[in-house]
Amino acid sequence: MQNKRRPIVAGNWKMNGSVELAKQMMDTINSASLQDVDVLICPPFPFLSAFAPFNGAIGGQNLSEFDSGAHTGEVSGSMLKALNCDFVLVGHSERRTDNGESDLLVAEKVRVALEHGLTPVLCVGEPESVRDSGEYFNHIQGQIDAVISVIGIASFEKIVVAYEPVWAIGTGKTASPIQAQEVHAFIREYVGKLDADVANGLRILYGGSVKAANANELFSQPDVDGGLIGGASLDPQEFLNICLAAKG
Ligand code: PEP
Repeated sequence: MQNKRRPIVAGNWKMNGSVELAKQMMDTINSASLQDVDVLICPPFPFLSAFAPFNGAIGGQNLSEFDSGAHTGEVSGSMLKALNCDFVLVGHSERRTDNGESDLLVAEKVRVALEHGLTPVLCVGEPESVRDSGEYFNHIQGQIDAVISVIGIASFEKIVVAYEPVWAIGTGKTASPIQAQEVHAFIREYVGKLDADVANGLRILYGGSVKAANANELFSQPDVDGGLIGGASLDPQEFLNICLAAKG
């Protein structure tokens, strides 16, 4: 059993939520005792400014690889910073699928996020067909290699990785704690071959149908350092219970 890192529980609202829900979430989190957990909410961009005063962090769900200019509909790292974001999700599987984001584009976005002082939450994970073929380690290694090739291994000290098996996102089909631990250990070991200290400090979140009912068992795995929560982050009390599970 290795030293546990400080846990993070991140909520990804996707294209859901409202100013009212932001207020409810703030009330719920602000009145809880969560000193030992980093709490992060990634709402849609229009609701970022509704999170004040918040006893947690806020983050974007995406950022542009460009800093400014003729890129209608895009949001830059400096804009996220201006709205008090500390984090940004990068390479969520829905962006990879819906927007055709390649491993290299994702890597470039990780680089741009770091350049703007944002902590990227790099999402990796295999689709069901890759899981079934047994090639999932190779798939995830490829996603990580692309980022290493662009930012170098030392920069992994400043990023968070989220393992999100695509077949478990929004499906109610959670990876078992053993399946999650197997991949988290693989990622840590792979990074550790290049830099043992970076690997030891790297926070690796699990995402995919996490709920309060299964959070405890997932988060108690030695290489699982918290969670990236989609659907359940739209219910403030459920999300709080997941945060409390990460507290241990
Ligand atoms: C996600 O959106 O990243 C996610 C893990 O969703 P869910 O928790 O709903 O599976």
